[in-house]
Amino acid sequence: MFDGTSRRSGTIESIRRMLGSRKAVFVGAYGLAILVICLAILRWTTNVEPYVINVTDIDYYSSVGLAKAPHFEKLANAFCDVGFDDRIDNLRTRLSHALLGGLSSKMPAPAITFFERDTDFARGRFASDSWEIKLTDGLVSEDDLPELLSVLAHELRHAEQAYLRIIHLLEAGYSEEQTEWSLYVPTNIVRHAARKPNWVGDEEMAFGRYLAYLRFDDALNEKLAAMHEMLKKTAGTDEYAHHQKKFANENPVERDAYAFQRMMLTTLRDCLPTSQL
Ligand SMILES: [Zn+2]
Repeated sequence: MFDGTSRRSGTIESIRRMLGSRKAVFVGAYGLAILVICLAILRWTTNVEPYVINVTDIDYYSSVGLAKAPHFEKLANAFCDVGFDDRIDNLRTRLSHALLGGLSSKMPAPAITFFERDTDFARGRFASDSWEIKLTDGLVSEDDLPELLSVLAHELRHAEQAYLRIIHLLEAGYSEEQTEWSLYVPTNIVRHAARKPNWVGDEEMAFGRYLAYLRFDDALNEKLAAMHEMLKKTAGTDEYAHHQKKFANENPVERDAYAFQRMMLTTLRDCLPTSQL
């Protein structure tokens, strides 16, 4: 039979005995140690942002899609054949042909335009709404041809990311129209993606799903927005390089695009005259 009263008074009695003995010192020290460990764990877990753990997940996809050997080689060969021409319209045509040939209809080749670098900090950007790669005309010099081509490769990877995101949404049940409005992409690109070309396999689909998920990660997007603001603020100062590196490393889509860009630059070292490197 349970007797709550006698058990409670027994417990109180034993605590009283303990307090009067040296045992209390050990119990106190033990309790304190546990408290310190708990506080350390709490501090550690609250300091670790989920996206910091997940950002390296993107590294798996850096060898997927256009980065896969046969696709990448075709693209790199096309880039290696681009000769220099300082007349910007001619260069633009050469680069457009390289994209068309290198992609061989895997996805719609983005249009290429040049813009004058003003207060903007980026040397290139991909605009998904107009399916266009914009490069700064500051990149146009013979010495910088590998640099120009590697920036083009970086922006092309962003286009591929957008393309795989489109395919993911369509597979997830979005209509073509819903996909177009949801991602702000042109109708003809969505139509192309709806045919799901056969180079897009399971790994590319998983890449697209991962990329689509990123848009809904609020914690990540808040962090990235703050980092982006920092980049704008420090543009043209000595601090910029540090923030740029951080942004490139901690933004999954940038991390992937830079990996692709580095891979292209390494390949270009073998095919372009060394005087241009
Ligand atoms: Zn980028």
